[in-house]
Amino acid sequence: MTAIQQTEIAFDVRPSDQPVPAAERERLLAAPAFGVRFTDHMVTLRWTQDEGWHDGRLEPYGPFTLDPATAVFHYAQEFFEGLKAYRQESGSVVMFRPQANAARFNSSAHRMAMPELPEETFLHALELLVTQDRDWVPLELEKSLYLRPFAIATQPGLGVNYPSSSYLFSVIASPAGAYFSGGVKPVTVWLCADFTRAAPGGTGEVKCGGNYAAAFVAQQEAIDNGCDQVVWLDAAEHRWVEEMGGMNLFFVYGSGAGARIMTPALTGTLLPGITRDSLLQLAPHLGIPAVEGRISTDQWHSDSASGELTEVFACGTAAVITPVGKVKTATGEWLIGDGTPGPVTMRLREELLGLQYGQRPDPFGWIHKVC
Ligand SMILES: *Cc1c(COP(=O)(O)O)cnc(C)c1O
Repeated sequence: MTAIQQTEIAFDVRPSDQPVPAAERERLLAAPAFGVRFTDHMVTLRWTQDEGWHDGRLEPYGPFTLDPATAVFHYAQEFFEGLKAYRQESGSVVMFRPQANAARFNSSAHRMAMPELPEETFLHALELLVTQDRDWVPLELEKSLYLRPFAIATQPGLGVNYPSSSYLFSVIASPAGAYFSGGVKPVTVWLCADFTRAAPGGTGEVKCGGNYAAAFVAQQEAIDNGCDQVVWLDAAEHRWVEEMGGMNLFFVYGSGAGARIMTPALTGTLLPGITRDSLLQLAPHLGIPAVEGRISTDQWHSDSASGELTEVFACGTAAVITPVGKVKTATGEWLIGDGTPGPVTMRLREELLGLQYGQRPDPFGWIHKVC
C-alpha cells in the first residue's frame, strides 16, 4: 500500500516546555521499571489516502484524542516494533540494528494491510526522539532506553469492508532496567497444550497487538501453574516448539568446545526476532555452530534427560538473553541441566551486551550511532 511516492518526510520539532525536572529524571533512571515511565517527547506522523505520510512532529509526550469508533479499538488493525538505544562508555548513544526493525516494520505493515514507511523516515523518527531525549538514556550497563514505534488505524467508523483510510505512526521511549525483576535468574516455562498463539496463514510472524491479546489467557495459565512464561507449540499438532511469550528460544547441545546451538526455524508462525537473527550470526563468529531446526516437546524432555541438551535460553530485545531453568507441563516437569544459568547462555549474553555497549568490536556493522 505505498499509495504515493514520497521523497522526504519532514518533522516539525516542538519541544516540551514542561520537561521532567533533572532530579526527578535521575531518580527514575536509577531504577526503571519496564515500560512504566516515558520520556518528555514522542514522534507522530499521519497517513491518509490523499496525502500519504504527512504532519510529522516531535512533540511533548501526551495522550491522543480518538473517536470511540476508531478502527483500532474495534478491529485491532495495529502493530509495533521494539528496539533499544544504549549509552556506550564513550558517552555516545547508539541503536542496535535499527534498519532491521525498519524492514520488519514494513513487512508487518504489508501483512496488516497498512501503509509502509520509507526506511529512512523510520530511522529519522527514532534519531529525532533519541537525540531530543538523550538525557533519558541511562549510563549503566544493562540499562537502556527502550524505543517503541507503532502504527494504528485511525479511521472512525465500524464498517469492516476495507482497511482504514487513515493511520497514525508514533514512537515513544521508556528507560529500561533489567526486564525480569530478579536479574539473570533462570525462568520456569509452561508448555501450553491447549491454547495456540499462531496458525499457518495467520499473523504469528507479525509484531501485532492481536497476537498478545490472544496470549494473555495462556500467560495467566502459566502463572497459575507456578511458571514465569508460556512456551507456544505449533497449532496443528501441539508438538513442535515455537517460541516463548515475547521471546525466541535457543537450545544448546553438548558443552565446552563441542557446544552448538539450535533455534526453531521460521515457519511463518514465529516472530522473526532480531536478537535471534543476531545470535545466529554472532555464535558461529565465536566458534559456536548455530542452526535453525525443530524440536518436539518429547525430544526436549528426552534430550534433557540424556544430558545431550545442556542449556536452553530465550532471547529478545527487552530481556536480551534469559536462561530457562525448568519446564512444566500438565503432566510433569523437568530441569534443564542443573537448573542454573549455563556457560554458553552466559557467554552469548555477555558478548551481545558487550557489542551493544561498545565494549566489544562490531564486526557486523550492527551499531548505529545517534549522538
Ligand atoms: C518482539 C518479539 C520477539 C523478539 O524479537 P526481537 O526483535 O529479538 O526483540 C520474539 N517473539 C515475539 C512474539 C515478539 O513479539
